[in-house]
Amino acid sequence: MKISTAFVLLATLLSVASSVGAQQFCDTQEAWLRKVGPDKSPGCVPEGPCDDPILRDAAIPGPSVPIKFVRLRFVVIAETSGANPAATQADVDWQVAQLNADFAPHRVQFTYETAFVNDSAYRVFIPLSTTIDAMQMAYAVDFDTTVNVFVCGMNPFLVGRATYPWDPDALSPVGGIVMDEFGFGDPHRVLTHEMGHQLGLWHTFRGLACTDACHEVPQDPAADFVGDFCADTPATPQYGVCADAPGIDACAGVPWGSTQPENFMSYAEQGGTGCWNLFTPEQSGRMHCWTDAQLTGQLGPPPTGDVNADGQLDISDSVFLLAYLFASGPAPTTPCVADVNDDTSIDIGDSIYLLSYLFTQGPAPLDACP
Ligand SMILES: [Zn+2]
Repeated sequence: MKISTAFVLLATLLSVASSVGAQQFCDTQEAWLRKVGPDKSPGCVPEGPCDDPILRDAAIPGPSVPIKFVRLRFVVIAETSGANPAATQADVDWQVAQLNADFAPHRVQFTYETAFVNDSAYRVFIPLSTTIDAMQMAYAVDFDTTVNVFVCGMNPFLVGRATYPWDPDALSPVGGIVMDEFGFGDPHRVLTHEMGHQLGLWHTFRGLACTDACHEVPQDPAADFVGDFCADTPATPQYGVCADAPGIDACAGVPWGSTQPENFMSYAEQGGTGCWNLFTPEQSGRMHCWTDAQLTGQLGPPPTGDVNADGQLDISDSVFLLAYLFASGPAPTTPCVADVNDDTSIDIGDSIYLLSYLFTQGPAPLDACP
């Protein structure tokens, strides 16, 4: 290798290290801090109304709160020839089913479409802020009404990145989510983590340094106003193992104690699968509050066929519809979801259409109400 080539390579690697952090798992929080500067004292500055714990708690969804349906558009990058896409349609389908399962208790669900884009320039690339922006500028569409989720190759520099709802770029071409192919599809749940950011969540370990104005100490009485602005997510260091973090918080000199590694917004899943399974009620409230405040344009109608509005398309929808039609059961909350065969009337034909789709490879219902 020529010295000049070696220099360019070194300079590039150093640039990557400062731009996304070498071996970065998730760059969402760092990307925001690069944009606005570090959290400085005095005080951990709120980003907007939903950092108020009163508004956050008022938005915690009860069982009667309508499910929010977020529109997603997956942009899967393949080589220019069309070969070697970063994910298959089956990967995307699996990922959305997992996303819907993880968010179902929080009354947020996702409808989606998939676009395959053939461009070798972004199939595998070094994820500088400039290269990620260039990819998004080239291929993001409908970004004010749809969360564009790019799937490409950024290994080993980056697994995922999202855009906070308070970021002025949230509804621009450079908003949305980028995912590395090796963190996408069965059995990964990185997209659940990134979607948490996209809807307004910080990492549970936000504010690592003692000098950070947002540092949260164990059992912090100000937990609503530091760290991730949630008091029901304990203070924790960044810890990539599916277990409580050992040791003490050097800032307070007390043990970390329980650090909730099961939280989706920790890094515990890096240490093995089977840990991430929790958004807390206050995190749920933040996501609903921030979505209502900033992201309503990206919400859409429910998918046709989810007659009982539980976020899943299954035989219980057909049973719900039959009970409504013939046994005085409750009506669907959104009538159009029950017009499964899109013939403008709600009758037994819709139930048959749905059963046919579920069990005999019949045609799929419309993705969403017209
Ligand atoms: Zn993250």
